Amino acid sequence: MTQALTTAQREEIQALLAARRRDLQAQMQQNRENLAPPTPDQDGIEQGNVGREVDQALTNIDAADLTRIDHALEALSDGSYGLCAECGCDIPFERLKIEPQTQHCVACKSRWEEATGQARPHR
Ligand SMILES: [Zn+2]
Repeated sequence: MTQALTTAQREEIQALLAARRRDLQAQMQQNRENLAPPTPDQDGIEQGNVGREVDQALTNIDAADLTRIDHALEALSDGSYGLCAECGCDIPFERLKIEPQTQHCVACKSRWEEATGQARPHR
C-alpha cells in the first residue's frame, strides 16, 4: 500500500472535508428546522407537505454525504485515504481536491456507473 499524498496535500484535503462537513451540518440543521412543525394546525388544513417531503429527501442525501466525509476523515487519520476502495490504486490528488469524500478512482466509478446505468455510455 502506498501513500501518494504529501503532508501539505493531506492538510488541504482535511480542510476541504472539514469545510464541507460544516456546510452540510448547517444545511441539515436548517432542513430540520423546516421539517419541525412550527405551530399546530389551527384550521386543520395541511400545508407545506410537498415542501417537507423534498426537505426530508435532501436531509437523507446530506446524511449519506456526511457519512462519506466522516469515512474520509477517518481514512486520513489512519493513512488509508486516497486509495480506491475497489481496486486499491491511488486516486489522483486532482480528483480528491474536487471530490474529497470519494472512495473510488475514476475508472472504478465509471465502471460502477455503467453497471448501474447511472451514466451514459462512452462516446
Ligand atoms: Zn479503482
